[in-house]
Amino acid sequence: MPQRILLAFLGLAWAFFAAVSKGETPRTAPISLPEVWPPHPRLIATQADWDQLAARRAADKDLDAFVLRLVAEARTTLTEPAIEHRKTGRRLLGVSREFIRRVLLCSLAYRVTGEQVFLEQARADMLTVSGFDDWNPSHFLDVGEMSAGLALGYDWLYPQLGAADRAVIRQALVSKSLAPCRGGHSTFSLAHNWSQVCGGGIAIGALAVADEEPALAAEVLTSVHDTLHWGLDPYAPDGAYPEGPSYWTYGTQYSTLLAACLRSSLGGDWGILGWPGFLDGARFYTSMQGPSGEQFDYADSDGKEELAPPLFYIAQQLRQPSLAEHQKRRFVDRGRLQRERFAPLIAFWWPFDAGAPVRAQPLWYRGRGKNPVVAWRGSWNERDTLYFAIKGGGAGVNHGHMDGGSFVMDLDGVRWASDLGMQDYESLESKGVDLWNTSQRSQRWTIFRLGAESHNVLTIDGHPHNAKGLARLVEADAHGAIIDLSPVFLPGEVRAAVRQVKLGDRDVEIIDTVEGARPGSMVRWAMTTGATITPAGAGAVLERDGKRLQFQAAGAGVAISAVDVSTPSQSYDAPNPGMRQVIVTAPVKADGTWRLSVRLGGLPAAGIGSDSPAGR
Ligand SMILES: [Zn+2]
Repeated sequence: MPQRILLAFLGLAWAFFAAVSKGETPRTAPISLPEVWPPHPRLIATQADWDQLAARRAADKDLDAFVLRLVAEARTTLTEPAIEHRKTGRRLLGVSREFIRRVLLCSLAYRVTGEQVFLEQARADMLTVSGFDDWNPSHFLDVGEMSAGLALGYDWLYPQLGAADRAVIRQALVSKSLAPCRGGHSTFSLAHNWSQVCGGGIAIGALAVADEEPALAAEVLTSVHDTLHWGLDPYAPDGAYPEGPSYWTYGTQYSTLLAACLRSSLGGDWGILGWPGFLDGARFYTSMQGPSGEQFDYADSDGKEELAPPLFYIAQQLRQPSLAEHQKRRFVDRGRLQRERFAPLIAFWWPFDAGAPVRAQPLWYRGRGKNPVVAWRGSWNERDTLYFAIKGGGAGVNHGHMDGGSFVMDLDGVRWASDLGMQDYESLESKGVDLWNTSQRSQRWTIFRLGAESHNVLTIDGHPHNAKGLARLVEADAHGAIIDLSPVFLPGEVRAAVRQVKLGDRDVEIIDTVEGARPGSMVRWAMTTGATITPAGAGAVLERDGKRLQFQAAGAGVAISAVDVSTPSQSYDAPNPGMRQVIVTAPVKADGTWRLSVRLGGLPAAGIGSDSPAGR
């Protein structure tokens, strides 16, 4: 950790603990804004940074290839249709994001090549969105993102834009982004990604026009600064992001964007990088990626790892290129930019400068907090290694699912235990589903992918989990973890419920115990999988991609079954092609207790180990 960050961190940590001990919300020091702002470009990259890019490219062929791919990508936007104000359901978000992608690509391509076509395209797109009647303030993320993109384009191309164009763009930022946030905005005080995206995007707009609109910019920047803790406190203490890995990328993108813009224009970052747990989020994100290529897509997350620019920024700040090495190999070196709108920033957030020490990342990660998660792996480089990750928490967080105690597992390069991940919001909202109501009886919990039934959890008598309940991580080390599941059950359903996992080299044991449940009630243990399931005695053999896994269950009165969950049970549920569940059920004993041990262990590939216990 560079000394500057360390000192900032220590200072902040002291202020934090001092404030917490007095029961106050921790705050950063008051902001000070300059009388004279540095010239454009001042957001992300100064003119010196742009000038150095050529030398850095000359010294690093991978960086050079990446920049050339960005230019090629920018060229493909030249033949795309103009951006239009077209909402999808209640969102303009897709338009804001497409605008960011195009304006960053073309602004960078112009600055790198000097080709006029890129300047013209970026200018046209900026004037188009500036001319929109609105940026859809009823869904304010759309405004926050549009503000960030327009601010960056305005700043990067400021010298080339004529006075008239600048005035139009500046006026759009003032009227659509800054003025509605004079004195603050309700979205800044939400304890989740909205605070980061809305606050960050609006603040970047303010930084872009601060010399021309000093009073308004100061007012907006102060309100964003004073509400930073809403979005940043959830990272404490280890970086585990309560809304899951996909939202980590989203929220963290805007906080790193703000930190980088503050540093390049003001020289400090308001303590963002030193916030407890913030930088640890990079280890959280990398630990959520399984060697199979699938991630632990809990809460409203996508199943696939995405190109994550904030990972590069944090790796650069910490001088730990290994944090972004996998992403570089998987996405950047292969030119798979996935239409990631912030990909151009990686040119400046490149952490792979010669001389940075390569430090191996630890093989297990523990993330505490409201929605805790633990992950273990045998290796960072071998695809066949065992990977297992389990979470506490559950439905009682923003974007949460009824998944307290759920887990995923990879072995031999195969994902054996899966989470089905999010369902596209518009696919539910367009059918009138009450998606954002999180009360116990909400329709939200009848959506298959969000409710308890689809997760790798315990349920009792088919009941949903407690919509406010959060399973507690009791302890975790390099060999296993214990999770208190009691809070996820409905009031009075159990006195205690605990899930323990024990990791071996190529196997995992999951031991569940329940006490104080109603005798005779039926406890259901579930594991969702893309494998075929062949029940065999007190177990089953799972098979996928030519690999096999032994599944063994030990407990009183257990019955094992396989259920096909590929077809939606309700009109609004998305299909889950190829997905099944292994279900183990057993009744609660007369003394109110229940116990089950499940062992998941690797087997030789089909056709080799015919003398294995499972047979063929
Ligand atoms: Zn889920």
